[in-house]
Amino acid sequence: MFGDLQERELIREFVRQLTAKYGRAYWVERAKSKGHLDEIWHELGKAGYLGVTVPEEYGGSGTSMTRLAILMEELCTQGVPLLFLVITTAMAAIPIARHGNEELKQRYLPAIADGSKKFCFAVTEPDAGSNSFNIRTFAKQEGDYYVIKGQKVFISGYDQAQHVLLVARTTPADQVKEKRHGISLLVVDTNAPGLSAHPMDTQIFAPERQFALYFDEVRVPRANLVGEEGRGFRALFDALNAERITVAAMAVGLGRFALQKAVEYAKVRKVFDKPIGAYQGLAHPMAIARTHLELASLMTHYAAHVFDAGQDAGMYANMAKYAGAEAGIEAVDIAIEVHGGSGFTGEVDVITVWPMARLLRTVPVAREMILNYVAEHVLGLPRSY
Ligand SMILES: Cc1cc2nc3c(=O)[nH]c(=O)nc-3n(C[C@H](O)[C@H](O)[C@H](O)COP(=O)(O)OP(=O)(O)OC[C@H]3O[C@@H](n4cnc5c(N)ncnc54)[C@H](O)[C@@H]3O)c2cc1C
Repeated sequence: MFGDLQERELIREFVRQLTAKYGRAYWVERAKSKGHLDEIWHELGKAGYLGVTVPEEYGGSGTSMTRLAILMEELCTQGVPLLFLVITTAMAAIPIARHGNEELKQRYLPAIADGSKKFCFAVTEPDAGSNSFNIRTFAKQEGDYYVIKGQKVFISGYDQAQHVLLVARTTPADQVKEKRHGISLLVVDTNAPGLSAHPMDTQIFAPERQFALYFDEVRVPRANLVGEEGRGFRALFDALNAERITVAAMAVGLGRFALQKAVEYAKVRKVFDKPIGAYQGLAHPMAIARTHLELASLMTHYAAHVFDAGQDAGMYANMAKYAGAEAGIEAVDIAIEVHGGSGFTGEVDVITVWPMARLLRTVPVAREMILNYVAEHVLGLPRSY
């Protein structure tokens, strides 16, 4: 069910070798300088690992969320989270491969697989927030083009990407029967005339930055539509489920990275004559954190398995994201505690994991919205909003 065990170990071994070269120190240096991670990205592309969500006929190894989850989990376990694995490998490649027309697939998938092109993903708007169907960015059809007006916020990696996978309305919300109708996905070039961007002051300690995007009459060919006009929710749900699974793997890996440091320290740091790891006040929370990480990892890989089988992975992807984020936060928190005062130094490098681990409770979908989903769609409880 969880993929070939030998293949899993091969992926993990590849990542360990790669991060021996481009490891945590490399990542931290780029996080401080807001630099790019091009070296590791291109090595992943060369070795075929950016093609894990791209069908073979377009230069990939076939869509496998299982492989992507293993890759992300192990990179983060080594302290090297790559946000573009979420926003390009999961959120752009999968909708284009599953819903894009032939021209789009030929144009973008091989370039995603070899690492030469990156996408960012833009859905969030200031007034819509978690209510994504309430977005107002509008793509109006004019002949062979869409003309786009609107605003997006918190768009990660815009400055490094060549394209935006944009979620926009093509029919106003008050003219559709169901609120999810009238939404479409479009590929927009990041240098398109009329598209401008401003960096936002997000503080997550990562190389990637967030941007507010302004679309002022941006013209995009109709051929750039991903899937059917007005029925973009299908491609959107594929993107969001893939995103949740990848983010769950990221959270689990970050938790493992921090917890491993705590365990090593707890074995050697002696206070009151004994190593602090002997004190159950620390040992038990570490053991619980490890248990929760393993449970979250299992759920993540089960969600990936259901996704790869072509079944509705919504319930599992949401639960995996919830479990991964909570387990990641718990592990990073105990790792800071175990290190005492030095847990707050850059040298120990666990406080530096905290902003990202904490972020993943709220982003890409907030914990409350996941619990709303489970309450409504899994338990069948009435909706409160
Ligand atoms: C670092 C970072 C990177 C990001 N990257 C991207 C990106 O690349 N692309 C992109 O499109 N977006 C991105 N986002 C945006 C992110 O997805 C949103 O911030 C997130 O979905 C929450 O939306 P919001 O900020 O509008 O919060 P809101 O929707 O305003 O929610 C505020 C709070 O209210 C709660 N809430 C809202 N409605 C309910 C309800 N019905 N029941 C219970 N509680 C509720 C929420 O759970 C949350 O706790 C990023 C954000 C950050 C901070």
